[in-house]
Amino acid sequence: MTATLAIIGAGPKAVAVAAKAAALRGMGVPTPEVVAVERTSVAANWLPGGGWTDGNHRLGTGPEKDIGFPYRSSAAPRRNADLDARMMRYSWQSHLVSTGQFAEWVDRGRPAPPHRKWAQYLRWVADQVGMTVLSGEVTEIGVDGDRWALATESEHGGASVSADALMVTGPGQSERSILPGNPRVLSIAQFWHRAAAHERICAERVVVIGGGETAAAILNELFGHRVSTITVISPQVTLFTRGEGYFENALFSDPTGWSGLTPAERRDAIARTDRGVFSARVQDSLLADDRIRHLRGRVAHAVARDEQIRVTLHSDRAGEPLETVHGFDLVIDGSGADALWFTQLFSQDALDMIELSLGGPMTGDRLQESIGYDLAVAQLAPKLFLPNLSGLNQGPGFPNLSCLGLLSDRVLGADLGQRPPSVNRRRSHGRQPIR
Ligand SMILES: Cc1cc2nc3c(=O)[nH]c(=O)nc-3n(C[C@H](O)[C@H](O)[C@H](O)COP(=O)(O)OP(=O)(O)OC[C@H]3O[C@@H](n4cnc5c(N)ncnc54)[C@H](O)[C@@H]3O)c2cc1C
Repeated sequence: MTATLAIIGAGPKAVAVAAKAAALRGMGVPTPEVVAVERTSVAANWLPGGGWTDGNHRLGTGPEKDIGFPYRSSAAPRRNADLDARMMRYSWQSHLVSTGQFAEWVDRGRPAPPHRKWAQYLRWVADQVGMTVLSGEVTEIGVDGDRWALATESEHGGASVSADALMVTGPGQSERSILPGNPRVLSIAQFWHRAAAHERICAERVVVIGGGETAAAILNELFGHRVSTITVISPQVTLFTRGEGYFENALFSDPTGWSGLTPAERRDAIARTDRGVFSARVQDSLLADDRIRHLRGRVAHAVARDEQIRVTLHSDRAGEPLETVHGFDLVIDGSGADALWFTQLFSQDALDMIELSLGGPMTGDRLQESIGYDLAVAQLAPKLFLPNLSGLNQGPGFPNLSCLGLLSDRVLGADLGQRPPSVNRRRSHGRQPIR
């Protein structure tokens, strides 16, 4: 009997786990059946239409940090070298070789690919390993006995997916906006939709809310439009550059020793290298462009007045709370990434069960502090893998693309229980099995 691991979202994390499972299966090593539930398509968030990019912006990390990286498998004791060799078949370089692009990529100096090429790579891996992808948006996460029960919706109707374990991926909703419906306020998705359609943005005073990589990509795009000033609002003291030297990078690729650091040291390392920092490449452009300035604070609310959007900002000066109001012609709300987005989906039963294992109400801090070695919430059965919240306890590379090969080892190495998979499609006249 094989256990089933359902994954919400068919992005790089799901592809990495599916590929490792396929390689293990090829070696005769028992491994769970991996089923990704995807509302759009494999790698959707790396393509225009996914709401996070126009597809033309370049990957921040090197493409060699692919679905098998760092090729130091541990999921097949005494046969890990064989497992690594099998995973190399799904590497970025193997993809380029098989699609006739390898020599050109090397000759051009191994450039970081645009997001759409990264999406092509992920889709190629998904095809190679015969990844199972169920089409549908997960609208509720419930429990059924000792299994997860996912309710999904798609153009073909509703379905329910039952699984022994669940992994949640993805950054949340790019459609979020501080003032929905106002044409002077764009969500991340609306911004990229306009960029992909080559619509030129013309505005005097533009503000981008958010200081992370999402906002950085937006800034990078804005440089090419007709804007007079661009203000970046983030809670940090200033716009920090991500540390990208060997020692910083090694923290992401190799979390050995991470759990030996104190929580304060781990938070400090994440703040310096990951959260709300811009890559050196974006910082170079920022420094060169005198239209950019930074405002420190958190946006409390925004109102439309006199053909402007007035943004109220909360910050502090010398420890005293400070409220200031600033007017802009165009607001781009780049704060949509939310590692806790899925918490809205839990049914009351599921929530009760999780809160019991957390020992209190479900908060971001409690969830992060509960994550165990296998990247799942400790003391919770069925397993709930939350790689996007694993940075603090397990290593800063797990939420992003920095060590997808380690991520898949840890998830597939967990004890999931042994039950057959089942998927049922809901229709108005009852439930019917679809396979
Ligand atoms: C613009 C941008 C650039 C980034 N660049 C880098 C980089 O260069 N290097 C790096 O290490 N990290 C980068 N990151 C951060 C992070 O590594 C990526 O977000 C990465 O894609 C995360 O992979 P994932 O598998 O978790 O999710 P995603 O690739 O985001 O995939 C999530 C999938 O879930 C689907 N989905 C969402 N909700 C539902 C639902 N309810 N039901 C079913 N499906 C759903 C989406 O359609 C999507 O396909 C970047 C992030 C962004 C936004």
